[in-house]
Amino acid sequence: MTATDLSVCPALPPCDHQPAPYQGPSREEVLALRRQHVNPGVFAYYREPLMIVEGKGQFVWDETGRRYVDFFAGILTVACGHCHPKITQALIDQAHKLQHATTIYLHPGIAELAARLAAKLPAGLDCVYFTNSGSEANDLAMTMARLYTGHRDVICVRNGYHGGTSSAMGLTSMSTWKFSAQGGGPIHHSLNPDPYYSPFQGSPEEVAEKAALDVLELIRYSTPGKVAAFLAEPIQGAGGLTMGAPNYLPRVYEIVRAHGGLCMADEVQTGFARTGEHFWGFEHWGVVPDVVTMAKGIGNGYPLAAVVTRREIAETLTERVHFNTFAGNPMAMAMGRAVLDVIEEEGLQRNALERGARLRAGLERLADKHALIGDVRGLGLMQGIDLTTDRAQRTPATAEAAALVEAAREMGLLIGKGGLAGNVVRVTPPLCVTDADVDFALEVLDVGLRAVVG
Ligand code: PMP
Repeated sequence: MTATDLSVCPALPPCDHQPAPYQGPSREEVLALRRQHVNPGVFAYYREPLMIVEGKGQFVWDETGRRYVDFFAGILTVACGHCHPKITQALIDQAHKLQHATTIYLHPGIAELAARLAAKLPAGLDCVYFTNSGSEANDLAMTMARLYTGHRDVICVRNGYHGGTSSAMGLTSMSTWKFSAQGGGPIHHSLNPDPYYSPFQGSPEEVAEKAALDVLELIRYSTPGKVAAFLAEPIQGAGGLTMGAPNYLPRVYEIVRAHGGLCMADEVQTGFARTGEHFWGFEHWGVVPDVVTMAKGIGNGYPLAAVVTRREIAETLTERVHFNTFAGNPMAMAMGRAVLDVIEEEGLQRNALERGARLRAGLERLADKHALIGDVRGLGLMQGIDLTTDRAQRTPATAEAAALVEAAREMGLLIGKGGLAGNVVRVTPPLCVTDADVDFALEVLDVGLRAVVG
């Protein structure tokens, strides 16, 4: 982006929040301290890392008071918008009463949130174990599946992301996130069902069927013929918004169950109304998992996650002692309950559906206009733009995606990046966005796409 390009910057959408003047350490001081003392593996976005000191709804402010429209929602975490007054108040009220109580004592918070979550899920999925992160939730789901089935092998989908702990890293398939120290095995990765990336030919449904048969092949030839579980994201997030045709998951679930395995949905990104038409991602594909893991949106920014399953599967954890110091603590439970209230009271699922449709239509118009866009994928307010330097060859436009993310930031829009080649731009705002926010994001992307091709 050049200074001339910035002169055509779209105007920011309206906002009535006035940020407080920032009085903390400078961005340079923070950067220097971080470089000196924070593990270098903790990376920051942008050539010039952005410091964020305040947030309200769909907006965040840097230390100079500059406003940004957050279309990445802290990596899809802040579903209800930053610092939602009702959710903040729930936290404050709880903080004044009791901040910590482990599960060795009774507290109403854990029982109430567990019941609220069960009510959101299909009948039978009513036994909740809270954790502090999505990685822990997936670890625990895998443990329960192995204990319940007596099998060891787990199958995940290529390009999937399931976490960064040693064993969740084993579930994760993307090489970007895998260290040689990964654990969790035996874990196998089946071919991705997304027609855009699949090596298989045919209609999306044919590709999905062939990808499902790859799961069967893995079970036959790479496992002892039996599996503990199949774990997949209903739409891959970090993997670049990929998903199979609607026949994919039903077919895989049938195959996995026929071989004694449990079917598990990682709803860390797709859950909590983001996909619009449904509250959970798996509902789009007409399947009912045996285990559902969730994080991010469940706490609107608070470290909260959960594994929900059927009682007979959950009972495996009574074989030994299992304990998690902070999981299910009163503060997290208060936030979780307030999040569910806000999604319902403010009609955020409907907003995700309607604003998501506007966003998607706009992205498709951009795809007609910009040759750099190879594909637009996603559901509701979880959309991805796959950038390719050559549409026919589907050559990933990695540098252009990075440049677009930078250009958008310069114009006041925060978006994300994903995909194995880092060429998929992730457009995933909080669920409270307005038409004006969506139109602003589309204008920024339009200007940015023009600028990155020069
Ligand atoms: N599963 C998915 C689909 C995720 O996107 C993430 C986080 N990006 C995780 C699991 C891991 O969650 P956490 O970072 O809370 O451990």
